[in-house]
Amino acid sequence: MTRRTALNPKLSGRHNRSIVCEQILRDPGISRSEIAERIGLTRAALSHILVNLIDEGLVVESKRVEDSGRAGPKSVSLTINPGFGRVVSVNIGHFTVTAAVFLSDGTRIAKATTAHRCAFPFDASINPIVCDLIDAVAHQTANRGGLLIGIGVGAPGYFVKVDPGRADERSDPGHRLYDWNALGTIPEIERRFGVPVTAGNCTDFAAVAESWRGAGRNVDRFVLYSVGLGVGSAFVDGGRLFAGRSGVSGEIGHTIAEIGGRECYCGNRGCLETYASLGNLLPALDHGYFRWVSDIDYERTINDIRVILEAAEKGEPGATITVEKVARYVAIGAVTLVNLFAPDKLILTPNELGVTNIDVVVEHVKHLVRKMAFRSLNGRVDVVAAERPEDPELEGAFVRMMEHIFRENEKKA
Ligand SMILES: [Zn+2]
Repeated sequence: MTRRTALNPKLSGRHNRSIVCEQILRDPGISRSEIAERIGLTRAALSHILVNLIDEGLVVESKRVEDSGRAGPKSVSLTINPGFGRVVSVNIGHFTVTAAVFLSDGTRIAKATTAHRCAFPFDASINPIVCDLIDAVAHQTANRGGLLIGIGVGAPGYFVKVDPGRADERSDPGHRLYDWNALGTIPEIERRFGVPVTAGNCTDFAAVAESWRGAGRNVDRFVLYSVGLGVGSAFVDGGRLFAGRSGVSGEIGHTIAEIGGRECYCGNRGCLETYASLGNLLPALDHGYFRWVSDIDYERTINDIRVILEAAEKGEPGATITVEKVARYVAIGAVTLVNLFAPDKLILTPNELGVTNIDVVVEHVKHLVRKMAFRSLNGRVDVVAAERPEDPELEGAFVRMMEHIFRENEKKA
């Protein structure tokens, strides 16, 4: 039973405002008593917080339709006010930049994608492409949902916050995971739009999205295993993302699968990503997808991969053999993640392949995890496909931005 005090004893008093907002964003229509029960606040303490949040226009209260005419604690529902402001989310991919506009309650009202031909690895020429797309979607929605209140940016690689005395961590030319600090992308967005910007790894954001509205909802510990063109992972424990030092963690794609194996763009050889990328399903891309990255026809590549996966799903022998070969490497990463984190769930998401049916890969992984994972974990880890395959990075970036806004709003209170 939850012990109730005026304020949650685990948290500082003011911090409760953010927690209340996060609960409402997570569960639109939640009642006062449900929030109070869930986070261990007294009704009086919660009422005090809500009076202010409603007064500031961040939260709105309305009668629940099914409960109308019935007085009581569950008769009123709470939502984040969609008119509080708009958030633009951006995802920078290997071939495209996608942006979406969300109202502050999480309703998506616009989306646009632009292809880019920026050579790999990226340089600062990507920055104006990103800024112009943000500008376009922000203008397109200018008449809806109030002012622009923030921008969330997701991308592969990392956004390290470097201590001044540790410049050596900033950028290592021999180790070429994307370092967005070196490209100055975020300061440029901040300068141009004059609103707060939160940035993070796209796989981390996909995990946030699965936790918000997908297969990770109400799951205590899960690993998001992102296997599409790139390979990465993110670990969520107790609703919180494991960040690691400086925010760099979960790079399962750059663990070694073959000593002295294929050259990887990160500077090493034999990285899992060079074998487990679903780009390897295509003969033209086998032996190292990333060598071809600037030359390939993106849409055709994605389509060709989908065709092979569909054929394997139908049991076509050639496609089945091809998928099994790549899925074995995908499973090596899955078994490693399961043994390292012992999660309740392992959620596979196809990253840049978008809405692609990867069930046939999930089935192989499920089988091999059962066979190869540490015995005491066998049968206890649920291996599933993601439920938010379409732009989870954009949803995760939105949620992160709103959490930032909730904290900032709390400071002003
Ligand atoms: Zn690598």
